[in-house]
Amino acid sequence: MYAFTYERPASVADAARLAGSGAKMLAGGQTLLASMKLRLANPPSLADLGGIADLAGIRREGDALVIGAMARHAAVALHADVLSAIPALADLAAHIGDKQVRAMGTLGGSVANNDPAACYPSAVLALGATVITSQRKIAADDFFTGMFATALNENEVITAVSFPIPTHAAYMKFKQPASRFAMVGVFVAKSASGVRVAVTGAANGVFRHAGLEAALNKSFTPEAAAAVKIDATDLNSDIHASAAYRANLVSVQTQRAVAKALG
Ligand SMILES: Cc1cc2nc3c(=O)[nH]c(=O)nc-3n(C[C@H](O)[C@H](O)[C@H](O)COP(=O)(O)OP(=O)(O)OC[C@H]3O[C@@H](n4cnc5c(N)ncnc54)[C@H](O)[C@@H]3O)c2cc1C
Repeated sequence: MYAFTYERPASVADAARLAGSGAKMLAGGQTLLASMKLRLANPPSLADLGGIADLAGIRREGDALVIGAMARHAAVALHADVLSAIPALADLAAHIGDKQVRAMGTLGGSVANNDPAACYPSAVLALGATVITSQRKIAADDFFTGMFATALNENEVITAVSFPIPTHAAYMKFKQPASRFAMVGVFVAKSASGVRVAVTGAANGVFRHAGLEAALNKSFTPEAAAAVKIDATDLNSDIHASAAYRANLVSVQTQRAVAKALG
């Protein structure tokens, strides 16, 4: 690693101040520390968010579940409020990486990083969640702006994500077997305001699928999803799968997610 200084702010205000002077936020370190070890990242200083107790909370607030940015994947997977309000989210968290990754990785780190194959961004987008930061509240539809890119400013710290509680939801991941990231993952959520379908792993960033949403708004059934033709034009091809294969997976995983959401 290149040399860096290490800070452990005691409040979000201190963390935001450090971010404003060039520090990188350190959450679970599962991506950031690996990038630094490979010398792909060279931050002058790290601000470890692990000392800010408020950031790890998980609570139900009316019709929403508010999960702190520093909530570890393992904590989300096992939390009673998550299991009862949005079991699909607990299920998603329970299948991220391996035990070590789940013990360290955080919701805020995953969302800020916006890896195009990460699981959480699809839940944030499909559930129409709100990303709460040290400066403002950002709707999911405005948050993810491209591959590893978000609407966050340099000096902005995610403090929590507020997830509206849906009537039905499920996440189906077809995993890349080595990393367990999504080759294709589909999160489907149905609420009073309609159906939202978010796809991860298939392209250069998480995206909603308008055709699947239209079909599932008419009929929330696996058959309705199966009737939608998935265009492979903008999907990724790599050593793991062709664009056509990923397009088929988008269809199949959506059908499976709807069946699972219906229980
Ligand atoms: C082997 C392996 C397998 C994995 N498998 C999966 C998988 O199956 N599915 C999946 O979704 N993910 C997977 N991951 C990713 C992992 O779960 C983490 O979500 C991810 O590494 C980022 O979270 P972190 O808490 O470690 O963040 P860090 O690595 O600490 O930070 C990542 C980035 O986010 C920024 N950041 C962190 N917190 C905040 C904040 N509160 N506000 C603003 N910026 C912030 C940091 O500055 C940094 O730029 C895997 C990782 C590994 C190493």
